[in-house]
Amino acid sequence: MAEEQRDRRGARDAREGEPEAGEPWGRSVRPEEADAWEALVATARRTVSDGLVVGTSGNVSVRVGDTVLVTPSGVPYDRLTPDDVTGVDLDGGRVLGALVPTSELPMHLAVYRATDAGAVVHTHAVHATAVSTLVPELPLIHYMAGALGGPVRVAPYATYGTAELAENMLRALTDRTACLLQNHGTIAYGATLDQAYDRTAQLEWMSRLWLTASSVPGLSPALLSEAQVAEAGERLRGYGQRG
Ligand code: 13P
Ligand code: ZN
Repeated sequence: MAEEQRDRRGARDAREGEPEAGEPWGRSVRPEEADAWEALVATARRTVSDGLVVGTSGNVSVRVGDTVLVTPSGVPYDRLTPDDVTGVDLDGGRVLGALVPTSELPMHLAVYRATDAGAVVHTHAVHATAVSTLVPELPLIHYMAGALGGPVRVAPYATYGTAELAENMLRALTDRTACLLQNHGTIAYGATLDQAYDRTAQLEWMSRLWLTASSVPGLSPALLSEAQVAEAGERLRGYGQRG
């Protein structure tokens, strides 16, 4: 709650000196922010086209220096233009744009304050959300859990957009780059938008895999140990092409 109040105060402070209703707030958009906005909008649209969210659900953010660009609340991603750049500072004070930032600002800002994240993706992906209603942690069905830091935890339910949800999320993210939000969805972060998106897609895929394997009557899937997943996680650091 205190965090929400601080965010609101920050928003009011940013308003001072910007009295024109409907006018863009704060300073002008820098070239690197315009580029980052384009990539953010592309990522948000991908969450819809890949079926990870429906409508305006979910949200995406990317950090450019001390400014966090975020999707505005409740605006269909295909309607966002280069003029809609929406940015806040790390306290939630609005510094760019005229649109209201995502209601999940507390979650996004909590990640940036606590980690070296460059981007955050939140979705309502269906299989991941289904898993969040069944177990406190996604069982170790596949070594790709190692790419997310280990067994993916489920943050206890709290109302969307609240500081309580952000606190629950941060606890579930300890030593992880993704977690599930009970009866709500996913959140993942990474150095870049592509990495945060890929981690989200891997989490959804693993959730689907576990649901599929555990739905065969009379059989239950073999699971990996934490040590096996940790070993794969180490190896994954060197995965792909070098240089
Ligand atoms: P916003 O449209 O405010 O980003 O909210 C969507 C959402 O997923 C809330 O949890
Ligand atoms: Zn949500």
